[in-house]
Amino acid sequence: VPGLSEVDFHTNETIFSITRKPGHLAILGAGPIGMELAQAFARLGVQVTVIEAAEPLGREDPELAAITVEALLRDGVTLRTGARVSRVERRGRGVRVVMDGQGGEDTVDASDILVAAGRRPTVDGLDLEKAGVSHDGEGIRVDRRLRTTNRRVYAVGDVAGGPQFTHVANYHAGIAIRNILFRLRAKVDYSHVPRITFTAPELAQVGMTEAEARAAHRRVRILRWPYAENDRARADRETQGHIKVVTTHKGRILGAGIVGAQAGELIQVWSLAIQQGLDIKAMTALVPPYPTLGEISRRAAIEFYRPDLTRPLVRRIIGLLRLFG
Ligand SMILES: Cc1cc2nc3c(=O)[nH]c(=O)nc-3n(C[C@H](O)[C@H](O)[C@H](O)COP(=O)(O)OP(=O)(O)OC[C@H]3O[C@@H](n4cnc5c(N)ncnc54)[C@H](O)[C@@H]3O)c2cc1C
Repeated sequence: VPGLSEVDFHTNETIFSITRKPGHLAILGAGPIGMELAQAFARLGVQVTVIEAAEPLGREDPELAAITVEALLRDGVTLRTGARVSRVERRGRGVRVVMDGQGGEDTVDASDILVAAGRRPTVDGLDLEKAGVSHDGEGIRVDRRLRTTNRRVYAVGDVAGGPQFTHVANYHAGIAIRNILFRLRAKVDYSHVPRITFTAPELAQVGMTEAEARAAHRRVRILRWPYAENDRARADRETQGHIKVVTTHKGRILGAGIVGAQAGELIQVWSLAIQQGLDIKAMTALVPPYPTLGEISRRAAIEFYRPDLTRPLVRRIIGLLRLFG
């Protein structure tokens, strides 16, 4: 961002140690970190404006992301989307953010700015070339066993260029150890790795979103179940949100997204289902304890069979069977 080096700005490395309440915090980037911190600061009573060139939480299913966005707006966060930051400049004791939007140039004057536009690994100064370890802008190049271009050197975590999550770094460590110590040919597979945005409500996704599934498969089924129909959610007054499951037309589970309370916990059963290649039928066999939020997973799965149950032929068969007592 032009002008950034001339102003004071926060990053994820400095923002957690500030000792003064910002008057107005402008956040550059509406990805997970930008949105989480926007909501946190808004709830601490700070005026917050988030500036995003594309859509907020643009990687997520728009239907689910919209519920998170609504929650932030209710918390008082101002969102400026479709606004590309062209430069920042010092203004008095604060910072002016200049943006190119649909209506031309626009500005936001803030006391503080937080840059949350993504993180890139830095490997400068490690002289990796001398060890024959190749790298590019995404990090150190690795194969699926996490071996670098020097087969005796492995790379794990964010620097290995996969999804940037603590649980992925942990997963990588297990893969590398199995390869190095036990000589097993363990390989990474990100298809069942969940990602969570820790806003309130949480937004969780594993596997394909609806758009990804439609791009990869000719026919897909979309199954939903709302928190508002779940007794535990009602008792806890956490009725906002829903689960959305994507399957092939035959019922193979392709992905699941949940926006709502405890979404990060509830997504885990779907991660296992995808990892195991399960069909939606397996999820209908689950017996979740009552009253728990986990019931939404089974209810969404049962939705797969609802069109069959309401077919006239099936209804006639049920009617016939009743004649036999
Ligand atoms: C604000 C924020 C929130 C996040 N929230 C989540 C979350 O909720 N859940 C989640 O799963 N992930 C989250 N992440 C991502 C998560 O933090 C990273 O994916 C994870 O920390 C990656 O672990 P790592 O060990 O690869 O890298 P890091 O945790 O970045 O550790 C790398 C370490 O190497 C050190 N280092 C760098 N260069 C050198 C060198 N030359 N010599 C010696 N040491 C060096 C660095 O100082 C650092 O301590 C978040 C990230 C951010 C920025």
